Amino acid sequence: MRQKIVAGNWKMNKTPEEAHQLASAVVSFFDQQYTSLPKIIFCPPFPYLADIVSITKHDTRFSVGAQNCSEHQWGAYTGEVSAPMLKALGVKYVIIGHSERRQYFGEDGALLAQKVDAALANNLTPVFCCGEPLIVREDNKHTDLVKTQVEEALFHLPAEGIKKIVIAYEPVWAIGTGKTATSQQAQEMHAVIRKHIAGRYGKEVAESISILYGGSVNAGNAKELFSCADVDGGLVGGASLKPNEFIEIIKAGSN
Ligand code: PEP
Repeated sequence: MRQKIVAGNWKMNKTPEEAHQLASAVVSFFDQQYTSLPKIIFCPPFPYLADIVSITKHDTRFSVGAQNCSEHQWGAYTGEVSAPMLKALGVKYVIIGHSERRQYFGEDGALLAQKVDAALANNLTPVFCCGEPLIVREDNKHTDLVKTQVEEALFHLPAEGIKKIVIAYEPVWAIGTGKTATSQQAQEMHAVIRKHIAGRYGKEVAESISILYGGSVNAGNAKELFSCADVDGGLVGGASLKPNEFIEIIKAGSN
């Protein structure tokens, strides 16, 4: 069965103390009486990773993810953080190809393929993001674009490699805008992605991959989105910064 996942992308937010409090509040809320939780992943800024790992490491329901990694392993790449460094800190996941990285840092499919390889080579699980800008959806080209994004960054992998990927479908027009895709729109795109993977790798592989929805998920809409057949949880931005709201979203992802 596919794993349900709720991941919080904190982006460039929170002081060290606030980050500590946020993770601590969520971890302590879910004491052992909650047994059917999704996998919960905190993705804080780089400087807080070690602290959040230390808050979560006693509880296997929680993991920590980075928001990006370099395509290189080591060397003269000022300002970069590599997959082996993340691995050594106890990080388990890394977001790759977030639309903000594509938009503001010019990350393209070829680069993202290299980052995916770097993550996998270090036993980190990539949370690979894809999704269309509004203009592309209005032009009715969204399925083609998302299929291309998936192909460019992932289809070089062997079946054993792609099985280790988590995909997040995040329509750009829904990120941080308060405008959520309807559950119908989300389901439609998740099914498109899964079918595309099935076409290349077969149904069994496609059925094993968790595909998360991202884009203004909140406590009010999470349950409906997560109940779609091909939606395996969410990648949550703004609402993951508020402990009570994130807790409700996690509950919505429970079995
Ligand atoms: C995100 O950053 O991945 C995201 C989905 O943000 P938000 O939930 O704020 O739309």
